[in-house]
Amino acid sequence: LSEVERDEERRAGARGDGDVDQPANAQELAAMSKLIGGSGLLDVREGELEVQQRNPNSPLHSVKAFEQLNLSPKLIRGIYQMGFMRPSRIQEKALPALVADPPINMIAQSQSGTGKTAAFLLTMLSRVDPNENYCQCLCLAPTFELAKQIGEVCKRMAAYMPEVKIGYATREEKYTRDSYSNHHILIATPGTAQDWVMRYRIINMAKLRVFVLDEADVLIDQQAFRDISVRLPGCQILLFSATFEEPVVEFARTVVPEAATIRLKRQELTLDNLLQVFARPANIDIKYQYVTLTFGLFGLAQCMVFCQSRREAEVLQKRLQSDGHDSLVLHGQMEISDRASIIRRYRNSEVRILITTNVLARGIDIAQVNVVINWELPVMRDRSPDFETYLHRIGRAGRFGKKGIGLSFVVDDTDERNLRQIEKHFCTQIHEMNMDDPVQLN
Ligand code: ADP
Repeated sequence: LSEVERDEERRAGARGDGDVDQPANAQELAAMSKLIGGSGLLDVREGELEVQQRNPNSPLHSVKAFEQLNLSPKLIRGIYQMGFMRPSRIQEKALPALVADPPINMIAQSQSGTGKTAAFLLTMLSRVDPNENYCQCLCLAPTFELAKQIGEVCKRMAAYMPEVKIGYATREEKYTRDSYSNHHILIATPGTAQDWVMRYRIINMAKLRVFVLDEADVLIDQQAFRDISVRLPGCQILLFSATFEEPVVEFARTVVPEAATIRLKRQELTLDNLLQVFARPANIDIKYQYVTLTFGLFGLAQCMVFCQSRREAEVLQKRLQSDGHDSLVLHGQMEISDRASIIRRYRNSEVRILITTNVLARGIDIAQVNVVINWELPVMRDRSPDFETYLHRIGRAGRFGKKGIGLSFVVDDTDERNLRQIEKHFCTQIHEMNMDDPVQLN
């Protein structure tokens, strides 16, 4: 496991489930069904993205076309082939500076699902020289799943640049001497990157042109990053995340010299297209029934359920499966090959429901996911709210302007307090699903 994975999962202190088996209130369940199912919330309307991209208040807004961002024609062809029409705000703001000479360092923040990945991948693909056979661009991601996803997007973007070799430095990759010369761009998890730099000397950091940290706020204080980032003369360093608390940015500025910075205010972090709701189940069995009811909602495409511990995730998935809800479970203690096959099946929509832990809270981009359920609110070890994880988890729905719901539960006083603190922290509203008077979701 990478450090972050360990840390992400370590945070996940298990909480007792209680053992009450009263039947759920039928009226409440019916109201909830009406609330989510009957609203048309999850419709994807024709031309809606275009409308959002023309709205100056949207993070997807842009005034420029891709042709105005100093990208090569081959890259622009690749982008159009992926179905991108116009850049998002972060792409429009960051890219002209990122691909200009001399290269600049950047610390960039943008909301979940607004196209950060494309921004840094286009930078790497603009800088790489396929005639030089060594790793020139290295991107670190906190988990194996995210590294794989980034690599796949990179390959699609580079569809018209077949001479550029894109590879992985993750635990399942068997390193060979050839890996060094074979790949111009490597997408890596931190522990493996550290091994390839320091132990096997497959990656020569001194020759790197671009070094990217995706989900930079969790990667930057890791030992692996510190160890491999000591010698980076003339290398462009890019830090991207949806969350950057002030102390992290201050620290980042000391590590990344003279970085241009794009920051957001906390109140800008939650997205209008993503509706945040909570329910108050009277007991654990009603909570379980609320979850299963949500699965049956009209309009639900795919759903991710986040648990606080691996054990809890397994128990919940077993119960769901035995009750006939076809579902998958993925957590950090599973074999990497199993993780790979599960995320592939989920990505291919073979199964609609995925039960998981914080290991998948960040970065995973699956367009069809439109409901995220917090089986429990994310908490730190002292049970105070884990604000960043909350934001990242719900950000698995509502990708690039699509509509989505983040559903949480308030079971006890701690949940109540934490939910209010999350609202306050992000200056947002998490609507209570009042069963007698359902809020309008549209
Ligand atoms: P982030 O890294 O900010 O969370 P991603 O880069 O994963 O977001 O982008 C979210 C989704 O939006 C992806 O499916 C990506 O393919 C898509 N996307 C990114 N940029 C554009 C664009 N300019 N136009 C249309 N879709 C885009």
